[in-house]
Amino acid sequence: MSSAPRTLREASCADDYDPNSMPVAKARELIRGFLAPMTAIERVHVRSALGRVLAEDVVSPIAVPGHDNSAMDGYAVRFADLEANEETVLKRVGESFAGKPWPGAIGAGECVRIFTGGVMPRGADSVVMQERAVEDANGVRVAPGAVAKSGQNRRFAGEDLKAGQVVFRSGQRIHPAELGMIASLGIGEISVFRKLRVAFFSTGDELRSVGTPLAAGEIYDSNRYTLHGMLTRLDCDVIDMGVVEDVPEKLEHAFAAAAAAADVVITSGGVSVGEADYVKQLLDKLGEVLFWKIAMKPGRPLAYGKIGGAHFFGLPGNPVSVMVTFYQFVRDALLILQGQRDVAPLPTFKVPLSAPIRKVPGRTEFQRGIMTANSDGAWTVRTTGDQGSGILSSMSQANCFIILGSDTGNVAAGELVDVQLLEGLV
Ligand code: AMP
Ligand code: MG
Repeated sequence: MSSAPRTLREASCADDYDPNSMPVAKARELIRGFLAPMTAIERVHVRSALGRVLAEDVVSPIAVPGHDNSAMDGYAVRFADLEANEETVLKRVGESFAGKPWPGAIGAGECVRIFTGGVMPRGADSVVMQERAVEDANGVRVAPGAVAKSGQNRRFAGEDLKAGQVVFRSGQRIHPAELGMIASLGIGEISVFRKLRVAFFSTGDELRSVGTPLAAGEIYDSNRYTLHGMLTRLDCDVIDMGVVEDVPEKLEHAFAAAAAAADVVITSGGVSVGEADYVKQLLDKLGEVLFWKIAMKPGRPLAYGKIGGAHFFGLPGNPVSVMVTFYQFVRDALLILQGQRDVAPLPTFKVPLSAPIRKVPGRTEFQRGIMTANSDGAWTVRTTGDQGSGILSSMSQANCFIILGSDTGNVAAGELVDVQLLEGLV
């Protein structure tokens, strides 16, 4: 494709476009082309900003730290006074505590008792750590070579942040460290992008919600719960629209209501062969949606498009497929829509397999893996066992995905495979 498609229909007309065998990377790239970051902004107290995305640059109004101060408990000294090869005796003339500076200036042969965070007195350039000095009736006896060079054990004003410096750019996601840094600047309120509203529902006549008894052949709807969990951890506002029966009028109403209420609509089920046809007709009426068979396992059927102003992800119904397709396609899209800059694919690592895996080339597989460290701290990975896309317990047992590329066939024990950690994903 020479230039990025501007409409979904245009995307689906490209020469190399095959909806029946869509590579994972290509689907990701196509979706990315249609994502415009959120622009709506709100002001929040810094404590409520955890997980949110900054909608403005944060500029430091002050230097941090504000003054040169001590990195140790010890004695503030003039480096020039210290003997390198013999003991130096200095006169103690005052104390500098964190928050209670000593107001004077030290002269030749003098020192000030100082504590971590205490402001460096004028005249002093270095700090002798207390373990290298003894105080007695003669004064403070500093061990030879206690300070190797001028400036040692001293923190400089502005060494963390300088006044006027851009500390964070708009688009930065706020983690605990960013919360702390913003607070260290004395900033109590910041602008962040509005939370992304995500509406989701499950389709399928066989599905019952928690709290209702099951008749023969019925199952409980678990996808709405995994989606609720994954979306909440990504700091979205979630709108749970329940189970919708496979009845065209009901589905049409649900799609329209979800698109009107949310920035993103996610459904599970109803996009596999046999079910897709009338959902497809319905969505053709309501918006512009592409239906793909992704060359991946699990998670083959996937739909993506726009319904009104909302982005639509039609995920497969199988519980494991929902989680795999969410992490491989939906997660990055949500981060971009939330306004985050520099959204990178999830990192992968190479880890040796502890047992062989059988695989047929042709599709990218996301097997559920368990990584363990042996007594030397070397890691190996094995699968959780049966990889059926309905076996949700495999996601619970796993601590990683083992990603086997499309061209890969059987893999022997000891070979390196790509893993993607589940812990810390969101
Ligand atoms: P579908 O994609 O609708 O053909 O569904 C594929 C499989 O996933 C079927 O066995 C469904 O019963 C099952 N399934 C679909 N939706 C859910 C759900 N919300 N919770 C649990 N299982 C589901
Ligand atoms: Mg179904």
